[in-house]
Formats: sequence, structure tokens, C-alpha cells
Amino acid sequence: MVFVEDGGFVIPGQRICVAEEYSPGLNVKMARDNIIISSRVGFVNYDKSNRIVHVRPVKSIEGINLGDQVLVEVKDVQEKIAVVEILAVNGRPIKHRRTAVILPDLKTRQDLNECIGVGDLVIAHVVTLFSGVIGLSIWKNQLGAVLPICSRCGRPLKKKDKALVCLKCGNREKRKMASINTSTLSEWIFGSSLTR
Ligand SMILES: [Zn+2]
Repeated sequence: MVFVEDGGFVIPGQRICVAEEYSPGLNVKMARDNIIISSRVGFVNYDKSNRIVHVRPVKSIEGINLGDQVLVEVKDVQEKIAVVEILAVNGRPIKHRRTAVILPDLKTRQDLNECIGVGDLVIAHVVTLFSGVIGLSIWKNQLGAVLPICSRCGRPLKKKDKALVCLKCGNREKRKMASINTSTLSEWIFGSSLTR
């Protein structure tokens, strides 16, 4: 008896099949009642010629861990999600940019369009790595935009009174700004410029 089809997604402890048909291979183990269960997050792989079942683990995300602080460039913003590229992790630029998503604040459910804009440099925290997707939060005080970019003309926005204003075209925009000191900021910006 097979509980999960070939290629099906499983989490640790999930029942895959009865051990009569297949023997346990990689990343699985035997449970009670002769049932093979997964020991990893991954995809089921039935080796039919050898009658062995494996779980191919979801690729681990190298060098990025929960709680890491990342500098990202915003690529696309929708109401509930924003797609970004990671430029630096914990103050160090990374060689290959990685795609991640900024998740909404579940408490306020604020429209992300009012918090960040395309082209902005933003500091965020890694809050989830579930099934290979890097999920980020910007909702703590020290997190948010560090270099907001005018959506109309692409120049950096400047803080004027409480608003953000483009000195070139006069556009006014809203952002969730990071409250960090300037030395940390230049460290991050300087680090990111190395990867360009
Ligand atoms: Zn402008």
C-alpha cells in the first residue's frame, strides 16, 4: 500500500508506504505496523527496479539561516507580498544573489505598497525557510527601507519633515523606514555596492 505517490511532498513523520512493497532507503525510517515514514522534508522517490523508497530532501539554503539580517533590493511589490533579491547576509555581500519574499505584517495587514517600493534597498530578517523559500520580515523597528527610491524617476528619496520627498521630481512617497544608525547603514550600502 502506497500513501504518497512518486514525487509527492512529505514532512518528517509522514507515512509513505507499507514496507512489504518497498524497503526503506535514504531519509526514511520504519515505524509501527510495518510502515515507512519520512525523516526529512522532501520528495518521495520510488526506486521501482530495486524496490526501495527514498526521500530526496529539499535543497538546504546554503549560508542563510533563520534570524539572519539581510540587505535586499526590491524587485516587485504587491499588496501582500514583495519579491526581492538578497545582496548581503549579516553585513557580508554574497556572491550569487538569491530571491526571497517579504511577508506581510499579520497584525496590521498593511498594504506592502505603502511600506516599500521597487528599487529600494531594505534591511530584513529571515523568518522562514520552509520548503526552500526564504521568507523575510521588515516589521521590527530597526528593519525596513534604508535607501528608498522614487517610483517616478528612480532617484533616492530624501526625508523631509516626516515625509519622503524626491528632490528631482517632487514626488512624495510612504515607506516603512529602518531605524538604524548611519554607520551600520553605510556598512550595508558599501557592502552591497561590491556585488554590483
Ligand atoms: Zn522622483
